[in-house]
Amino acid sequence: MTKEEALKKYFGYDSFRAGQEALVDGILQGRDVCGIMPTGAGKSLCYQIPALLLPGITLVISPLISLMKDQVTTLNQAGVHAAFLNSSLTAGQYRAAISNMANGQYKIVYVAPERLHTESFLRAIKQIHISLISVDEAHCISQWGQDFRPSYLKISDFTELLDDRPVIAAFTATATKEVRDDILVLLGLRDPLQITTGFNRKNLRFLVQKPQNKWNAAMKMVREHEGECGIIYCLTRKTVEEVCSELIKNGYSATRYHAGLSDEERRHNQEDFLYDRKQIMVATNAFGMGIDKSNVRYVLHYNMPKNIESYYQEAGRAGRDGLPSDCILLYSGQDVVTNQFFIDKMEPAEDSDPETAAQIRERERERLRKMTFYCFTSDCLRDYILRYFGEYGDSYCGNCSNCLTKFEELDITQTARNLISF
Ligand code: ADP
Ligand code: MG
Repeated sequence: MTKEEALKKYFGYDSFRAGQEALVDGILQGRDVCGIMPTGAGKSLCYQIPALLLPGITLVISPLISLMKDQVTTLNQAGVHAAFLNSSLTAGQYRAAISNMANGQYKIVYVAPERLHTESFLRAIKQIHISLISVDEAHCISQWGQDFRPSYLKISDFTELLDDRPVIAAFTATATKEVRDDILVLLGLRDPLQITTGFNRKNLRFLVQKPQNKWNAAMKMVREHEGECGIIYCLTRKTVEEVCSELIKNGYSATRYHAGLSDEERRHNQEDFLYDRKQIMVATNAFGMGIDKSNVRYVLHYNMPKNIESYYQEAGRAGRDGLPSDCILLYSGQDVVTNQFFIDKMEPAEDSDPETAAQIRERERERLRKMTFYCFTSDCLRDYILRYFGEYGDSYCGNCSNCLTKFEELDITQTARNLISF
């Protein structure tokens, strides 16, 4: 069976998406790979297709129990022998799955990272040939990421234990340079093929403004988008309340969302926005996880968020339908101060040592600096974001507030330095 046949037969697709084929080929040629693609780009296929074509079994290490179950169900429906091993199984089910695995009944086994070093698992894998280990959500290995999982650090110990080292493939959607370096080093990838793709959202127009009066600037944007859906993100609950009530006073159809509201009210407000009963959602970063509303025409950041990851994720909620949409950031020096304050009062986990807490703060400060530079660069804003995620685009998109402005010669870098020398 060729990879194209597998794609058609098991998944029903006619062609690969960007990046998929190169990653599949890399794995099939026996090379370690690291695939960095945004959510929804289709990372699973990159290891599932090789899994079907390689002689031995594929272990998929994944942190999310619900996700494992979904994927295994889908694979089973497509006629692929797959199973998962995690804490959602009863002891009996777990034993059965392990012994089926040892008997070579599965082609793909999803396993939680904590399970790798258990005795029963180690005994079972002695009897089988592992062709590929795929590490999904690989950013969990890095303390730079949002979802650090200490058990991910043990994956390379596990691969060292194996007599025949399988190919190792790592996948993630959130890879800044720091996270990517951690993945390569901590997973022990050998001369990996690295593919980063698809972070560019061409229909989004990026704008940065440094208005004297934010409210006026925001109103101007809202008026330009009269009759369209938009999200306004603010850094604090207080600002959310103020902006929302001003909008309502001015006759706009607005609602709000932040952690200070009851569950009931949050749900109600979110639905008002999702079902177009309200046009403008004013919210803190608590809003948006898993929200898939296609017709958001603009995302306005009333304040600068804490880092580019957050910014791109929030701004990216605009234009899911592919139509032109605006991502506007209103900067003021106070935003840096507020974010700085949040970083300073970050509570370290109870059991973490003081050194780590200090390191984490320093990392957050570094990310904040890069966010602040975004507001001061005179380079293409889209390119700045893509470079942050390790993707190289054109240095001129022709459609952001920098590409659309002709700059006067002034020492912007020095201004930025003064502002962010904290
Ligand atoms: P990711 O893990 O990158 O977030 P998934 O692997 O979950 O993304 O895939 C997202 C969706 O894209 C799935 O519904 C999947 O079936 C679909 N998909 C993946 N590859 C292709 C392809 N080559 N053609 C069409 N749809 C695809
Ligand atoms: Mg995935």
